Amino acid sequence: MAAAVPGTAAAILVAAGSGQRLGADVPKAFVRVAGRTLLEHATGRFAAHPDIGPVVVVAPAAELARAAELAGPDVLVVPGGSTRQESVACGLAAVGPAAAFVLVSDVARPFVPGAVIASVVAALRGGAVAVVPIVPIHDTVRHRGESTALGTVVDRSTLVAVQTPQGFRRDVLVAAHAGGAPGATDDAMLVEAFGHPVVPVPGADESFKITTPLDLARAEAVALLSASSPARRGGSG
Ligand code: C5P
Repeated sequence: MAAAVPGTAAAILVAAGSGQRLGADVPKAFVRVAGRTLLEHATGRFAAHPDIGPVVVVAPAAELARAAELAGPDVLVVPGGSTRQESVACGLAAVGPAAAFVLVSDVARPFVPGAVIASVVAALRGGAVAVVPIVPIHDTVRHRGESTALGTVVDRSTLVAVQTPQGFRRDVLVAAHAGGAPGATDDAMLVEAFGHPVVPVPGADESFKITTPLDLARAEAVALLSASSPARRGGSG
């Protein structure tokens, strides 16, 4: 097998979910914000980033042609699976061995600032095996356990929310996916289950995940702000 080229990072953008909670009549990746689909917003940010080489989009199997048209000629589009983890594995199989690192990101987070992509890649180039962007939690959170009662307040200063893109040494992520870890809801959990440390870097408010119809209104606002301020898109720094 060909050796990895030191420092090169590929991006896998997972877009194969149905996005039922959004209530749209098309899969979430094809929902439009500020005139462009979420797929185009997300792909554009990664494909234009100076730290990112190949970009692979993982799309619903029934929508490959439409996804390929939107993603553009330089982006490889492959069909996904029935769970997010399966879809990441499909993307990983399509990333060539030349990539030393892979970043896995949700197309449902279409406005990741360039600065966050740059920090994830910088941490990997600095020797980290796995990297996740994190943000503080602003709500009061309670732990309910199995109970239907209100539960107990958790000190939110001890909590963080984990975003994407999550970055990995490609060989480590391939091995973790081959091994599997039941119940892992993201790739960092999978890699952690194999004993690898996961390094946090600062995430961003703009990287919020579009889940409900109200999130689309927020997305319109973020798209407007980004269009008027290239610095907000983040470039490479
Ligand atoms: O459903 P949820 O919003 O948590 O999905 C997170 C991301 O994973 C989305 O970008 C979605 O398209 C992707 N996904 C996928 N394949 C699946 C399920 C989700 O690519 N089977």
